Amino acid sequence: MSDFACPYCGAKHEYDGDPMGQDKTTEYQCSECDKLFLITCSYSVDYAANKADCLNNGNHVWKDAIRTPYIINRKIKQRCQGGCNREQNRTATEEEIQKELAGLEKYPGLKSITLGN
Ligand SMILES: [Zn+2]
Ligand SMILES: [Zn+2]
Repeated sequence: MSDFACPYCGAKHEYDGDPMGQDKTTEYQCSECDKLFLITCSYSVDYAANKADCLNNGNHVWKDAIRTPYIINRKIKQRCQGGCNREQNRTATEEEIQKELAGLEKYPGLKSITLGN
């Protein structure tokens, strides 16, 4: 909350100065009663909760991650889209490896990463 009330007269204020760090204190003058008081900055942390059905007896929905090279060490990285966001590697098929190598013709460095040698 960036709002606070004057501890003397209760007038509502909104902090409009430079951002302050956690537990930093600054003087503030009330525009209603002209009294000086101190405000202390504190941040709050929020957590968002999202369902992950695949972690609760549901099925993971693995999708290949998009990256270059697509195959590293003959493995394709996958991320679950079913809610859990977990990652796993699957072994690329020989066909996928050949297709990848054809696309990487100009990049010998990436070729060796693909094959893992
Ligand atoms: Zn005041
Ligand atoms: Zn999952």
